[in-house]
Amino acid sequence: MVSKVTDEEFLFLAEDEAAVEPLPQVTGEWHLLIVDDDEEIHTVTRLALSDLLVLGRKLVFHHAYSGKAAIDFLKKNRHIAVILLDVVMESDDAGLIVVQQIREQLGMDEVRIVLRTGQPGYAPEESVIKEYDINDYKTKTELTRSKLVTSIISSIRSYQQIRTINQNRLGLQKIINAGSNLLEQHSLHEFSEGVVTQISSLIGLHAEGVLCAQIEDDGSASENVYVLGAAGHYAPFIKCKLERLNNPRIIQQILQCLQQKRHIFTAFDTVLYLGNADNCAAVYIESNRPIEDFDRQLIEVFLSNISVGYENVTLFQQLKHAAYIDPLTKTPNRNEFTQLLQETQRLDPTDNVAVLIDIDHFSDVNDGLGQEVGNELLISVTRRLVEAFGDVAQIGRIGADVFGLIGPEHILTPAAINCLFAQPFQASEHSLQINATMGFCRLKDSVRQGLGILKHVYIALNRAKKHVSQNFEFYSVEMEDQMAERLSMLRQLRLDFSLDKLQLWYQPQIALDTNKVIGMEALLRWPTGNGNFVSPAVFIPLAEYSGLIVEIGAWVIQQACQQIKLLQAQGFQRMRIAVNVSMPQFRNPLFVQSVIDCVDRYQIDPQMLELEITESVVMDDPKMVIASLNRLKSHGIKVAIDDFGIGFSSLSYLQQLPLDRIKVDRAFIRDFAKPNGAVIAETIINLGKRLGLATIAEGIETAEQAAAVKAMGCDEVQGFLYAKPMPTPALLEFLAQSKVDE
Ligand code: C2E
Ligand code: MG
Ligand code: MG
Repeated sequence: MVSKVTDEEFLFLAEDEAAVEPLPQVTGEWHLLIVDDDEEIHTVTRLALSDLLVLGRKLVFHHAYSGKAAIDFLKKNRHIAVILLDVVMESDDAGLIVVQQIREQLGMDEVRIVLRTGQPGYAPEESVIKEYDINDYKTKTELTRSKLVTSIISSIRSYQQIRTINQNRLGLQKIINAGSNLLEQHSLHEFSEGVVTQISSLIGLHAEGVLCAQIEDDGSASENVYVLGAAGHYAPFIKCKLERLNNPRIIQQILQCLQQKRHIFTAFDTVLYLGNADNCAAVYIESNRPIEDFDRQLIEVFLSNISVGYENVTLFQQLKHAAYIDPLTKTPNRNEFTQLLQETQRLDPTDNVAVLIDIDHFSDVNDGLGQEVGNELLISVTRRLVEAFGDVAQIGRIGADVFGLIGPEHILTPAAINCLFAQPFQASEHSLQINATMGFCRLKDSVRQGLGILKHVYIALNRAKKHVSQNFEFYSVEMEDQMAERLSMLRQLRLDFSLDKLQLWYQPQIALDTNKVIGMEALLRWPTGNGNFVSPAVFIPLAEYSGLIVEIGAWVIQQACQQIKLLQAQGFQRMRIAVNVSMPQFRNPLFVQSVIDCVDRYQIDPQMLELEITESVVMDDPKMVIASLNRLKSHGIKVAIDDFGIGFSSLSYLQQLPLDRIKVDRAFIRDFAKPNGAVIAETIINLGKRLGLATIAEGIETAEQAAAVKAMGCDEVQGFLYAKPMPTPALLEFLAQSKVDE
């Protein structure tokens, strides 16, 4: 039998109990400590067990000859699997004191303890055996070889199980910590560096290593392999090509790992494979020793855990790309544009301006020619913007049909941008002539952060959309003051509407040939509570802007239908009521049907209801409005074009609109006093006649005006000369005294 410990070592240990050297790192062996004051027991035990292999590992023996020596040894050597411990040594219970110290002071819970004693009388209490987790108790006479072997094997087994459980718990904790740390790293470089550090710490090494990834998998060797992360003295090589490492061993190991798609464990280093279908990476760890089985398992679990993280990080980078780049035009999207605004504002606001360009009637292109063509148009516009301003300005796509520019004010002028829209744009086989509306904000006029500036440009853009004469507007601070005021007004309007405080007043309309009242226009009134009213000219645009007009408008139509019914009940059978309708109402797909339903519900003659629309409503979306009006018309409902004037953008639409009546704008009536002031009104009235439409002049305040429009051939009039708008009771009184059609 060959003993692992020589006699010299034995003697050395015996002589110098206290000066115990720490053990070398443990691999492939089980360490046993024999504690006994009887030298012979040491020798016998060693001889009995020297050949034994337990779970494939050899035994290594350590010796202590007193309780105190045992504790000193254990303080420095914690990797002991089993202690064979004599109970009676320097004192009768020296062994029991050692047990207590091992468990309580040293906190060594994993080590297994086999107690031995010379005489049965010294057997410890059962409670002690339980309390101190003692595996076995034997009298020395019982310790035949076979009994000793059985005892040692079962102790080592239980030691290994306890250790595995504990280490798994510890390892899992580490993995969880490591994993959650890593998932917070959003850049691939941080993540990679974290992986190297975490793996090193998992296996108890100082972090020295690199993580490399194959950037493009074209099969050619080291060309495309980059160092993504590194710790220790490899850190300076982050982002370099692998070749730069100047260490043939690492390069070779990493390439081999990537090629074979598997981990490589050697006595000097460890190379771990990390990958999925699209990306693969290798982690090289310098270990200078073989990695234990248990640590390998830990690393496996860790790797499967972080490969999710690796995917997340690469995914995150794609997401980040998607989050900042508009996929269609490949230019910055709203997020990125906001950032750019912020940066420009911070660095150089003086001469820079932010611009939003809104394509007019883009939905016509999308609906009429298809989304494909719409997309191509947007790409075409982007291209032209980039060609013209790409060198000096930043260009992004902020909304479906809204582009953003940031650049020098003297270059990004309304004229320069308008110039780009002078020529048609190519979108597949179509050549499309489009117009745009622009909002501008000089960065020095906006003290805001990125989003705030964007809001300012939008304010200007929305202002520009309301202009008739020009298609752009510059932001000014006053606009925002007005905005705040308007916002509080809007809140009040919403509240008052919900409290049923809005009223509908009626202004009579008179036929010029008979002087009979033939109908009336319904006009909203918003009482302020002190006998005054907020002008519809003020609050209607607000309600339109906010969309509240959809609900209010529905209420107006319902009130008007009810009024027609009431008038009938009062004996006024053929009294027409004209109702003003705004664009947002038309945009609501249920609008037309809701009007028809309302007429049906009140069982009124649909011809008694007339809808007044303005040119701006028509021009906002001509096709849709024409379709809606056709449906209404086919149901018998009348349509008038309100505030008709010279600004009508396209007379060709006038022929396509299913109209009954043209209302001549008050402005042209007012002009009668000026030389040649009546020309426009006359032209409009003639145009109406040509188109076979009835005409009505609004804003008639004097008998002269009435006579003039009558002479021009106008059919009907409305104005203060006859009556102001009034609430229902006053209206009924007025009608009672007027000539009406029965
Ligand atoms: P509108 O449709 O052009 O209405 C005619 C406006 O001219 C009314 O102003 C009316 O009071 C005023 N008016 C009538 N005759 C005379 C006159 O002889 N001299 C003068 N100086 N003014 C006269 P109001 O009631 O202030 O309404 C202003 C605008 O508000 C309306 O212009 C219409 O566009 C809008 N509006 C009113 N009610 C509604 C509604 O229920 N829905 C929608 N969408 N808009 C409405
Ligand atoms: Mg009107
Ligand atoms: Mg009008």
